[in-house]
Amino acid sequence: MDDVQKQVEALLSEAEAVCRREGTQFTRLRRLILETLARSPGPVKAYDLLESLKEKGRRLTPSSVYRTLEFFIRKGLVHRVSSLNSYVACADGGSLHNPVLLVCPDCQAITEINDEALNYSIFSRLNRLGFSARMASVEVTGLCEKCQKEPSEKGAD
Ligand SMILES: [Zn+2]
Ligand SMILES: [Zn+2]
Repeated sequence: MDDVQKQVEALLSEAEAVCRREGTQFTRLRRLILETLARSPGPVKAYDLLESLKEKGRRLTPSSVYRTLEFFIRKGLVHRVSSLNSYVACADGGSLHNPVLLVCPDCQAITEINDEALNYSIFSRLNRLGFSARMASVEVTGLCEKCQKEPSEKGAD
């Protein structure tokens, strides 16, 4: 099994366990959506997800896709990338956590960081400011290492 396959399998079995705990079904639609996201090399827009599932012969409504995405987001298995208006599968095996997503708009690479010290400083600082933080979804936009080395050729053509 290659690394991607291992990561996909791990995420799917985590999702299955979450659904079992919640007493809800890990439906074929849920599996299909999570697997499609996990196999995608980059972030996916809900519309493109819908289109690619339609190509597989699934008859779906946008609302069923959104509902499924919302479910996975609440469970920490999928993260929303607000700045790209798209979604990524959790790169850290899922379950609830407070990821920091590093987003490179040039190549659309997303790096997920789960760093306890970083989270601790966000949460403790907010507490001192009088805000009782529970969950954070932090998104930082910037150039990834690759794009710092090879500036994009956007605008050159
Ligand atoms: Zn994650
Ligand atoms: Zn980049």
